[in-house]
Amino acid sequence: MDYESVIGLEVHVQIKTDSKLFCSCPTVFGAPPNSNICPVCSGYPGCLPVLNRKAVESGVRTALALGCEVREESVFARKQYFYPDLPKNYQISQYEKPLAEGGELFVETAGRPEPLRVRILRVHLEEDAGKLIHPEGAGGAEGSLVDLNRTGIPLMEIVSEPDLRSSEDAQRYLEALKSSLEYLGVSGCDMEKGSLRCDANVSIRPAGSRTLGTKVELKNMNSFRGVRDAVDYEIARQTAAVESGGRIVQETRLWDAEKGESRPMRSKEEAHDYRYFPEPDLPPLAAPKEWVESLRAALPEMPRARRERFTRDYHLTGYDARVLTAQKELGDYYEAAWQLLRTVRGDGREKLLANWVTTELLGRLNAGKMELASSPVPAESMAGLVRLILDGTLSGKIAKTVFDEMWATGGEPAEIVQKKGLVQVLDEGRIREWAKEALARNRKAADEFRSGKERALGSLVGAVMKASGGKANPEIVNRILLEELGSGKTGG
Ligand code: ADP
Ligand code: MG
Ligand code: ZN
Repeated sequence: MDYESVIGLEVHVQIKTDSKLFCSCPTVFGAPPNSNICPVCSGYPGCLPVLNRKAVESGVRTALALGCEVREESVFARKQYFYPDLPKNYQISQYEKPLAEGGELFVETAGRPEPLRVRILRVHLEEDAGKLIHPEGAGGAEGSLVDLNRTGIPLMEIVSEPDLRSSEDAQRYLEALKSSLEYLGVSGCDMEKGSLRCDANVSIRPAGSRTLGTKVELKNMNSFRGVRDAVDYEIARQTAAVESGGRIVQETRLWDAEKGESRPMRSKEEAHDYRYFPEPDLPPLAAPKEWVESLRAALPEMPRARRERFTRDYHLTGYDARVLTAQKELGDYYEAAWQLLRTVRGDGREKLLANWVTTELLGRLNAGKMELASSPVPAESMAGLVRLILDGTLSGKIAKTVFDEMWATGGEPAEIVQKKGLVQVLDEGRIREWAKEALARNRKAADEFRSGKERALGSLVGAVMKASGGKANPEIVNRILLEELGSGKTGG
């Protein structure tokens, strides 16, 4: 039988704020253990929480960007559990009346002509727990240590409906969500630092069935790759279990990235196990309509709108537009360079610039695992390079040499061209000399071409380019070679 996998994600996002959700302790990452704590976040009895306005604002902005309905009144709730990372023995979260509900995120996936619409179940606010450190592994001779610096840091939990159908869908959804959060500037979104964490709920069902199967919750993935691998492992595990006549038990499993497998952590708790009840120390959270509307009006352009604008205004392909807008800074880079090129004449300027940014620049950044911010080639220099191609100073090939030099030295393209004498040769007289020379030295290729083997032209073009030190304009080389070969054919 064929099975369909069904996935829903619960994403915890650390909200970027200076202070914690209910106290004024700083949120900086990497401080010495237990240096950013106070009686409130270390759970001293009798201390009262005071809500962080900035965190609420970021939660509301995120909810609005995801098309959610923001409640005029939401309620904080106590979620009780015992674990030493949370000294109060309850987490302040939201339960019955979350901040916002019912949104959507459109996700570009491979294999679907239209973006996949993933419904957002809810967005709510909660406080983070501390961190346990096990010096010799859990239960080791040293015992375990607890660092409460993270306790009380504001989180928002973004819960999707089970609308994803593969591990790849899950990864694309996460990427799209991360991109949106980055556009909003509400989080550092760093999975490795734990500011973006994801639990995946996975079930399978017979293909075509509409009822949901029993779900298993996966925890402890700390990279996009990890989410993908964990989901794939779980789909395979469930499929094998069902095919051999077993059934799936609802449980929570821990992903072990090193071993590439998951193991059971606990049978899934039910909501009633937590004894949720409204937090008596905090009044209901009011989000007045006018305030919400003023935040909505001030939302930035989001990735999907920008993608559409890029295809419309710059005539880019969907693919180029997606690559250029996924990261806000890269889209800004493209547009900054474009501003400097818009008055230059030339066909396909937008596409040419897009190619240089997505292929050369992104290629280098990815190869070096670098951030755009540390690129040695700023948008102005990139625009300068493309301008030199458009005005005929550089061929695409020489431009690559110039780009190499820009990358290595951070230099200006025009200066590099000057210094290295890299200006493209357009002089037909000189190119014809090189062509004649190349034909005389490569009789065999010339004869082959004349007897119909058109591919032989490639090596002749190569010979001319070499003779010119890579500086001859390739189109002119092509044309002159064909003339010299006595062929009226054009093109190559
Ligand atoms: P719980 O109360 O167990 O936490 P929720 O209804 O809150 O369950 O859903 C938690 C997450 O699990 C959501 O992301 C939801 O989309 C997902 N989910 C729910 N049912 C299933 C299922 N049968 N298969 C896969 N994911 C599911
Ligand atoms: Mg849940
Ligand atoms: Zn504190």
